[in-house]
Amino acid sequence: MVEGTHRNTYAEVDLEVIKQNINAEKKLMDTQQSLFAVVKANAYGHGLVEVSQAAHAAGVDGFCVAIIDEGLKLRSIGLSEMILVLGVNPAAQAVVMAQNNLSATVDSLEFLEDAAVFLRAHKLQLAVHLALDTGMSRIGFRTPAALAAAVTFLKAHQTEFKFEGIFTHFATADSSKADAQAYYRQQLTRFQQLMAVVAEKPRYVHVANSAASLWHREAKGDAVRFGVAMYGLNPSGGDLELPTVFKPALSLSSEIISLRRLAAGESVGYGKTYTAKNDEWIATVPIGYADGWLRRMQGFAVLVAGKSCEIVGRVCMDQIMIRLPQKIAVGTRVTLIGENQGKTITAQDVATYSETIHYEVLCALSERVPRYYN
Ligand code: PLP
Repeated sequence: MVEGTHRNTYAEVDLEVIKQNINAEKKLMDTQQSLFAVVKANAYGHGLVEVSQAAHAAGVDGFCVAIIDEGLKLRSIGLSEMILVLGVNPAAQAVVMAQNNLSATVDSLEFLEDAAVFLRAHKLQLAVHLALDTGMSRIGFRTPAALAAAVTFLKAHQTEFKFEGIFTHFATADSSKADAQAYYRQQLTRFQQLMAVVAEKPRYVHVANSAASLWHREAKGDAVRFGVAMYGLNPSGGDLELPTVFKPALSLSSEIISLRRLAAGESVGYGKTYTAKNDEWIATVPIGYADGWLRRMQGFAVLVAGKSCEIVGRVCMDQIMIRLPQKIAVGTRVTLIGENQGKTITAQDVATYSETIHYEVLCALSERVPRYYN
């Protein structure tokens, strides 16, 4: 997709805010704990390279990515910290991970057996983090026997593998609900039961995402995988109160590109889903679902000159139409996420309206939207 640098629709990312959020988290952590910046999915839409460089400057100990290519990108810009690929991969990918010093998430003995052959052939060693499935039912060893077999294999194959870490991921650490809290405790217990078969602990035993690090301090571990809160968002979406201040790092803006006066009874957009009740000023803003401003945002609002203006008619691929309270000039700034003359729309507001989570709102911002950095 082509980046729209000639269109006045853009996201601004404040890298100082990213650094401040990292420092706020560090203050909550024990001094011996490491912080891994989770920068998968283009750093939750904020920009992989720029955010990772800011996180590096803030002194993080490592990075978590979802896929190998994200890790390769970080190596290509010279970052030398540990990079953990959180997704599992076919054994044939062990070579490229080892060649680039990417740490692999492993959840089967078969992977280790097959990868060992590739690694021996290339005289390479792969750093490994064993994933434990304690309740996500996504990836990970589920039984002590399966885990013990993998640990034994790693011990017997130290030329091919460095046993660097072991981790799990909580499904409900971000909720105040009683059943969620109970499920969290159940996962922690399963983790402890599985860990009982690991006699020699690796360098990193890690369990905490942002939510667990903020609201389940007892889970601890050697490292925090710090994701959504680094971008300034409350992992619980407001259900739980943050113990410190994290500031949102991203704002999303556009401008009025066209303006018309509709007479009462005239309609707007595909399917004519909106009809003017009175004579109304309708403005067009160059952002649409191809930019990640999804169709379900119809009926939500944007900010223009400090005023909340409804998105009327269907969201188009590249444009939206908004109803203005009065005539406002073409070229006036439109805020979709962020602050405008004292009023604010947060990614959480967008998520609440569109019945999703702020993670999705930010990840959805497409490559067509340029990101500008301070
Ligand atoms: N750890 C794992 C395994 C993840 O999949 C994620 C994100 O989805 C994170 C950590 C970071 O989570 P959060 O962004 O909620 O901090």
